[in-house]
Amino acid sequence: MGKPTGFKEFERLLPKKEAVASRKKTYNEFVHAYSDDELNDQAARCMNCGIPFCHSGCPLGNVIPEFNDAVYDGKWEEAYRILVSTNNFPEFTGRICPAPCESACVLGINRSPVAIEEIEKHIIEIAFKREFVKARPTHLKTGKRVAVVGSGPAGLAVAAQLIKVGHEVTVYERDDKPGGLLRYGIPDFKLEKWVIDRRIKVMEEEGVIFRCNAEVGKNVPTSELQAYDAVVLAGGSTIPRNLNIPGRELKGVYFAMEFLKQQNKRVGNSPFTEENVWATDKHVLVIGGGDTGSDCVGTSNRHGAKSVTQFELMPQPSKNRTEAMPWPTYPMLLKTTTSHEEGCNRFWSISTKAFIGDDNGNLKSARVVDLEWERDHLGRPVKFAEVSGSEREIPCELALLAMGFLHPQHDGLLQQLGVELDERGNVRALEGAYQTSADKVFVAGDMRRGQSLVVWAISEGRECARKVDEYLMGYSELESKDAVF
Ligand code: FAD
Repeated sequence: MGKPTGFKEFERLLPKKEAVASRKKTYNEFVHAYSDDELNDQAARCMNCGIPFCHSGCPLGNVIPEFNDAVYDGKWEEAYRILVSTNNFPEFTGRICPAPCESACVLGINRSPVAIEEIEKHIIEIAFKREFVKARPTHLKTGKRVAVVGSGPAGLAVAAQLIKVGHEVTVYERDDKPGGLLRYGIPDFKLEKWVIDRRIKVMEEEGVIFRCNAEVGKNVPTSELQAYDAVVLAGGSTIPRNLNIPGRELKGVYFAMEFLKQQNKRVGNSPFTEENVWATDKHVLVIGGGDTGSDCVGTSNRHGAKSVTQFELMPQPSKNRTEAMPWPTYPMLLKTTTSHEEGCNRFWSISTKAFIGDDNGNLKSARVVDLEWERDHLGRPVKFAEVSGSEREIPCELALLAMGFLHPQHDGLLQQLGVELDERGNVRALEGAYQTSADKVFVAGDMRRGQSLVVWAISEGRECARKVDEYLMGYSELESKDAVF
């Protein structure tokens, strides 16, 4: 271990952020870098805890104490090698992961946890600067061809793994550029898009072929997939949950992705044909308390909204860990994101009953009501009732529905392949098998597990790649996270 007494000597410190007033003027990332000394001190906080639960807290099984020690000792190349032995894209997770590893950090029991996510980001950025990260094309050629449909983190992880072992990999993407929600969901102020471009360049140099503006099942016939030895579906979970209340049809009520995607396209100078949706000078209502909702808050503030209000149907979870924690807990609802720091009125236990329009069909307000939740003996919220007399109207000219995603798009590719779906409408595959009901067709990421996290998409992509490799070759030397534990 780096420094046995580090966890006693140093407090958790996160890098400074750009002041709210200035960062709201741009869509750029605004978290500064640690100084060398700060980074060294933060790595030194990782203690010799015997059983490092951070390993299993991380869906990728990242071997965190080892890379912290290497950072503390200034062994950058070693830190980089340890990090990428389990994670293909630390530059993504180091920026936007909710860091379940930090929730699992043993130091976090009575002190603040080690700043693992920031350390991860610094390792990979230093690795790019020092050119440890470079294309390593393999001379091995298996002669097997794999098609990956979808270029989000799951599809990218599949491709990055399979190209290493000598398969020919083609990634189909219906958008104009690769990246999935990394590019056209998550705003630039959380993840600037040069970070994706930089990674795609490395993958292309290793031989991955990207075919953009190519929607399989629409402008690319599904029959084209027959030419491949294996196919991986990584199309994400894209059908948003709707709010079917009176006034839903009014002008001014949109799904969150209708708003976020076009803003990312504006920033990235990518053309779009949809009607412009602006929050400028409007009272904005964001319905839904997760990551998508908070991205709508940050984007609305950058547009120059008059006010931003965010509603969540569920109750605010208790911050007191000694109280019965509701399960499933809703960690996102506890979290104050950087977007909330920028200005937002936040309410829990509230339901929107109707949208109200003016004579021209434009949204002017929403009718809402407070909820009272009944809890079971474990403190879990199980049933709600409206609080009588709490119904009221709040002004809003733009309402953004950020209430999650139901399942992947069924028409087109999935129907044409005839893959079996599970009871939630996701593509069915046994966990750990990743193989669908269709011959030689595999699935990974949100399309299989439902809406989730980038770190899970990468984890699924890696595990799925190993299964594809075994299917094609009869064995695989690709790493599996099972080997870490
Ligand atoms: P996606 O990223 O959805 O990628 C699927 C890709 O497949 C898309 O590019 C799509 O165009 C393409 N595709 C679909 N069908 C076809 C077809 N037939 N032919 C060709 N291409 C096709 N997670 C975090 O960990 N941290 C965050 O901060 C965070 N913020 C988020 C913010 C928003 C607004 C949203 C919506 C999600 C956020 N998430 C976050 C969740 C995370 O982005 C997803 O869990 C993750 O991107 C899923 O990866 P994926 O590869 O499975 O799918």
